[in-house]
Amino acid sequence: PSGLAPTHQNIDALSQHFPLCMQHLHRTLRQNSHLKHYGRLQYTLFLKGIGLSLEECIMFWRRSFKLMTDEKFTKEYKYNVRHAYGDVGGDANRRGRGYTPYSCQKLLTEALPGPGMTHGCPYRTFTVDNLVAMLQQTGVSDRETLKGVREDVARQRYHIACNRVFEYAHKSEIKEVKNKGVWGEAELDTILHPNTYFKRSFLLKH
Ligand code: SF4
Repeated sequence: PSGLAPTHQNIDALSQHFPLCMQHLHRTLRQNSHLKHYGRLQYTLFLKGIGLSLEECIMFWRRSFKLMTDEKFTKEYKYNVRHAYGDVGGDANRRGRGYTPYSCQKLLTEALPGPGMTHGCPYRTFTVDNLVAMLQQTGVSDRETLKGVREDVARQRYHIACNRVFEYAHKSEIKEVKNKGVWGEAELDTILHPNTYFKRSFLLKH
């Protein structure tokens, strides 16, 4: 998006535009100064998808693991970030490109996270009460929206719940771009990818 120049320093600020799956990873990382493997992979690929360069991404992880030595970081973590970006390893197809950021479809169908793991889609992996509590923490307090989320989740329509939250959180901006005719149905169709969620949120608020 125009005006977007992600660096390791502005991820905290940009995280207000992240969908719940990535907000959860970001908050856990800030809380624990660590994330487990699958969460790191999911988050790294998302950050790559928002346009964070490899160098900035390595810096982001290095700074985030506050208690870790440089030696341990270089030995055990740096390679995985480079690998996700296609800087090292992988087959010929992936070389130079790395892995594609995960879609909702992928996150909604992979194995459920085990204890202490934070990857996946919270609309599916959280109990509904914990989900509602987390939404409230992120500023979604509207009763109708939360009621709708409960119903969507009960029907396993997880991405519909996510889209409902998006529409609530961006209600006035959506109205504005529609009224002005700047965006039509195509720009506002159902979100099926965490990176689409981010991009749309960022564009609507800038
Ligand atoms: Fe993330 Fe997609 Fe789940 Fe929304 S529906 S929280 S974007 S995985």
